[in-house]
Amino acid sequence: MATLSTVSWSVSMREMSDYEEGVEMIGDGIRHRVPPAGAPDADSLSLNSEAPALHEVKKLLENDNASDLVEEERGTGCPLPSTPVDFVSLEREMLQSGVGEVGDNIDSTEDRAQNENMSYKAWSCKAAKAAWTASWNVCHFHHLPQWLQDNDFLHSGHRPPLNSFNACFKSIFRIHTETGNIWTHLLGCIAFMGTMTYFLTRPPYETKPDDKIVFSMYFIGAIICLGCSFAFHTLHCHSENIGKLFSKLDYCGIAILIMGSFVPWLYYGFYCHFYPKIIYMSMVMALGIMAMIVSLGDKFSSPSLRSVRAGVFAAFGLSGIIPAIHYGYTEGWFNKVAQAYLGWLLLMGVLYILGALFYAMRVPERFFPGKCDIWFQSHQIFHVLVIAAAFVHYHGVSEMAVYRTTMGECRAQSAIY
Ligand SMILES: [Zn+2]
Repeated sequence: MATLSTVSWSVSMREMSDYEEGVEMIGDGIRHRVPPAGAPDADSLSLNSEAPALHEVKKLLENDNASDLVEEERGTGCPLPSTPVDFVSLEREMLQSGVGEVGDNIDSTEDRAQNENMSYKAWSCKAAKAAWTASWNVCHFHHLPQWLQDNDFLHSGHRPPLNSFNACFKSIFRIHTETGNIWTHLLGCIAFMGTMTYFLTRPPYETKPDDKIVFSMYFIGAIICLGCSFAFHTLHCHSENIGKLFSKLDYCGIAILIMGSFVPWLYYGFYCHFYPKIIYMSMVMALGIMAMIVSLGDKFSSPSLRSVRAGVFAAFGLSGIIPAIHYGYTEGWFNKVAQAYLGWLLLMGVLYILGALFYAMRVPERFFPGKCDIWFQSHQIFHVLVIAAAFVHYHGVSEMAVYRTTMGECRAQSAIY
């Protein structure tokens, strides 16, 4: 059991709600499995050759009590209890030690007794495996596999690889390094869904169908971005491949948000200027698609390219400076209304760039390593700034839309520039 004995078995009763029926604690701290209906009474089985599976499980628990829990108390804990390799090893080791499935032919009382014994062993193996998944504890950074090691300024509180979508989604309700990241964008996503629903249900005399379509592009961009981010932060500890897939979706979501942000402001900013509107929108789409293609590269998500990622999306967002200058020129730099809209755009840009800087520089955890593991880490600040920027933009373009509708029809000559 070399493989098993190196793996921590840190089960606590509060973490084992799913398996409470099968496991209970006895006085000396060693967990005692209650057999399912039909299985032989566990007390009647001695921990020797009659029940090798139980014997192995007990050994595991004792190993854990002796070493790994002590390690956790020192704050360095962690097991990696649920990697696929561990499951495979667990099953293989259990089978090698005599655990098998129930046979089909029961020829005698002896066979039946042996079969019941085997059934109990199989149940033990399954219970051990199930409890393993349910009982993960947070890890120190150094205990993470390389593909989960992203920010070494966050020392403890990391989720181990969970290898189960169910376990990943349940982890939303536990405290670890990703809890803040998950909830900031989950709540942001819900807020945008609510805002979109409110906007689209306005009566036609209040909001025209054209405005609904234009704003929907923005809302959908924001919902996709925040939703992908939520999914990434929830699922990236599932396994290396799932983590990579969702990190690509997360980056694509950012590109979609930036594209969606440009649509309403180019639409209202160049409302009567047909060609500039079409040219700028085409440029934004082309840049957005390029950003997505770059995001899909396998290397793009590596920790060493953190600044490159921040740079790609900041440059994409900052490309809006060109139409903004054009807008100021055509509307007049001293036009109070134009100044107000450019002011909202500027505030949005500042919030996004500030967020990108926090993200790229990993502030404040860089200055307080190990102190921002759970709350106030750079990524959470970045998330909050993204949501703030997205709502500032919504407010700015809403004002532009209201102003535009009070201006009346466009004059024909203004369509060409
Ligand atoms: Zn994120």
